[in-house]
Amino acid sequence: MEAASMPIIWYGTSQCSQYESRMRRVAYILLFTWMAWGTSCAFAGERYTGTIIDAHGHLGASFREETIVSVMDTNNVSKQIIMARYYPGPTGSADQPGNDELVLEMAQKYPGHFFPLVGMQREELTGSYKWSKSDEAVEMILRQTEEKLATGHFWGIGEVIVKHYAYSRGRHAEQDNPVYSPFMQRLSRIAARFDVPIVLHMEAAPRLVEDFARLLQENRDVRYIWAHNCGRSHAPVIRAMLITHANLFCDLAGMTNTGETGYGTGWPRMEAFNSLMEIDGKFLPEMREIYESFPDRFMLGMDVAHAPGMNLRNYSRRVERFRELLGQLSGATAKNFAELNALRIFKLERKAGAVSK
Ligand SMILES: [Zn+2]
Repeated sequence: MEAASMPIIWYGTSQCSQYESRMRRVAYILLFTWMAWGTSCAFAGERYTGTIIDAHGHLGASFREETIVSVMDTNNVSKQIIMARYYPGPTGSADQPGNDELVLEMAQKYPGHFFPLVGMQREELTGSYKWSKSDEAVEMILRQTEEKLATGHFWGIGEVIVKHYAYSRGRHAEQDNPVYSPFMQRLSRIAARFDVPIVLHMEAAPRLVEDFARLLQENRDVRYIWAHNCGRSHAPVIRAMLITHANLFCDLAGMTNTGETGYGTGWPRMEAFNSLMEIDGKFLPEMREIYESFPDRFMLGMDVAHAPGMNLRNYSRRVERFRELLGQLSGATAKNFAELNALRIFKLERKAGAVSK
């Protein structure tokens, strides 16, 4: 609605009433301009103010637990899916690795707030040959994954690092592993047995996307969560994969385009098959269309993987950007993304200690 197109009502023709009319006209114009401004602001999207579930978080030994709890509280983030980062921090940093025991302790100390996955950012999985032919260390990981899931205190498996761009030096930084492999097949069978999802990080190289499609097809009883807006794929790839595979879900972890790092800024690098999700707090139109077409498939995540990044400024910046972006979706889709999808996909309402299957 534009102010200039609104009808102006004239009263009388005398000098005095002409003056009054002019004043009234000015008043109307001001009123309508104000109304139009108000309407366009409302249309541009109200910031989402509801509770948020952070469906993609990490933990290492250098994280301060009080900081995590307080940044979540301040931002009305009620729950976090939390994955141990077994990898050491970047060379030279004091960012200590984590493990599943640490994550479990956190979950038990704050029941209903932290939901551990069996951590897969593990040094033992570095070396693509191991994904094709396991060694003793990989066998141990598979065995322990089953044991951990059998306790009922884990809600999934991840983050499995399939294809990852280096952002630091060190042998675990750049990864390129086969997604259609005996290791992934065996992990998938375990996930199916315990009815839990697998979160995977895989930049969308076309040959890997094809292989992933085969894995999805052969394991239809497994829910796969393809992190970072489906491996930072372009919109047509996301659409095609979601249409074909009902067992595919994606998270938008780290995809806010804020700060200096985070996948949503194009960091640490982008290939031709990668895309952003948003620019300056506005969804790319083709991404927004996908989100409205698949309201049950996406979740949010702040994806803080290193202790120095777990601070109020960084965490709030990501949450706030998500709130702004959710305001551009329909109310129902926004609530799904913020909360309901995570509850359903991870089955967070299951009681800790109980096993689904
Ligand atoms: Zn990731």
